[in-house]
Formats: sequence, C-alpha cells, structure tokens
Amino acid sequence: MPGVKVQVTEKCIGCGTCIKGVCFVNAIDLINNKAFISNECREYGRCVEICPQKAIEILFEDVNYVKKSIEEIDNIIDIA
Ligand code: SF4
Repeated sequence: MPGVKVQVTEKCIGCGTCIKGVCFVNAIDLINNKAFISNECREYGRCVEICPQKAIEILFEDVNYVKKSIEEIDNIIDIA
C-alpha cells in the first residue's frame, strides 16, 4: 500500500513465530536470527499482530492515511 511500511525493530529475538505461515505472501525470513521483511510485503499486518515481542511495526508515512482509507471505503459501501 502506498505510504505504508512494515518494519522489524531491534526488539526482534529471532523466535521465528512470524515466518510460520503467518504472511500471505511469505515475505518474511530469518536472516542472522532476526526477521527480515522483503519487498514482497503487502502490508497486511498479520505479522505485527502475531509477534510476541511486539517487534514489528507499521509506519504510516501519510498521517491522514487511515482517515482517507475510511473515506474511500465509505464511498463504495452502502450500509443500510
Ligand atoms: S515473531 Fe517477532 S521476535 Fe519472533 S522472529 Fe518474528 S519479528 Fe522477531
């Protein structure tokens, strides 16, 4: 997604939880006992939720990204 980035922080202990079928596109590997996220990442964020160390974070380069996304969804979905 444009303006969204998933990254591994120094909190990673290399437990491997995030590489066990969590990622839809297999974008995570362990390299030198630390999670590495490749360019295949589509920013779904499942790895962020599953990491027991809270070592993966999502960065929003556009501070209005969430608001814009909600507005886009609101324009295409009619909830009666
Ligand atoms: S689940 Fe978290 S601590 Fe474990 S390897 Fe992945 S990023 Fe590192």
